[in-house]
Amino acid sequence: MTSGASFSFMGPVDLHLHSDHSDGTEAPAEVMRQARAYGLRTAALTDHDRTTGWDEAGQAAVALGMTFIPGMELSAKHEWRSVHVLGYLFDPADADLVAETARIRGDRVGRAERIVRNIARDYDVSWQDVLEQTTLDATVGRPHIADALVARGIVRDRTEAFDGILHPREGYYEPHYAPDPVTAVRLITRAGGVAIIAHPATAGRDRMMPVPFIERLIDEGLAGFEVDHRENTAAGKRALHDLAVRHDLIVTGSSDYHGAGKPNRPGENVTTEAMLARIIERGTGSAPRHP
Ligand code: AMP
Ligand code: FE
Ligand code: FE
Ligand code: ZN
Repeated sequence: MTSGASFSFMGPVDLHLHSDHSDGTEAPAEVMRQARAYGLRTAALTDHDRTTGWDEAGQAAVALGMTFIPGMELSAKHEWRSVHVLGYLFDPADADLVAETARIRGDRVGRAERIVRNIARDYDVSWQDVLEQTTLDATVGRPHIADALVARGIVRDRTEAFDGILHPREGYYEPHYAPDPVTAVRLITRAGGVAIIAHPATAGRDRMMPVPFIERLIDEGLAGFEVDHRENTAAGKRALHDLAVRHDLIVTGSSDYHGAGKPNRPGENVTTEAMLARIIERGTGSAPRHP
């Protein structure tokens, strides 16, 4: 830590929350109000592929007496797996990162339109319905398509949409552009940020990347893993924990709050203050905002 820093890091700490700048259902300030209401003292905003919510969330958090950690969840892809890389405390103006996130977001729009076109062959839903569920120029994803299906009365909630129509097995799915995880980790690290793989050990098709590949990411600057997350399997958490100890990595725990879009509640998993201190020490591209 830099000498002279007199604040102490405050728990409980939750480092993974989404607003309506991506696929959360609440504005950034409301996300911070919810975080405070659930007892958090430190929270990060980690919208998919964008940083536009930082200022609103940061101001709200500080006004609530909380510490705000600027973050993002960067979309990546390894073979068939969708890999999400959390970045903290990077420079939001870094040219390479700005260009890559713009490319991902741009491709997500055409991809969402293709998915909707596929679904519209069998169901009464249109691209206009999706736009009505999408605020600002939010990072568009399947959750917004799910919300359009809910508004049309075709499914009850996002969960039902993801278990059915939006699942790749149903045949409507289309992929979107995403960099490989090596590129994602490099982009965040070179922008002064701290790269942590989000929910690395989910069940099923998206199961963990092979350990030798993860070790390659560590060589590229990967700082750690989000171990305590409701979608990591118990066996996966043990494997990640062992790997983290072996390589002296950071481990985090977080909720992945999406407002009404998922059952996840702020603070359902938390990060220790010691691990937060390591993240703050390592991040050089932007600063935490303290009350
Ligand atoms: P996409 O990136 O467009 O393929 O959509 C993936 C996003 O959908 C992830 O960021 C999740 O937050 C969200 N998601 C995945 N599964 C579910 C689910 N069962 N219920 C609600 N949201 C989900
Ligand atoms: Fe999401
Ligand atoms: Fe994710
Ligand atoms: Zn997330």
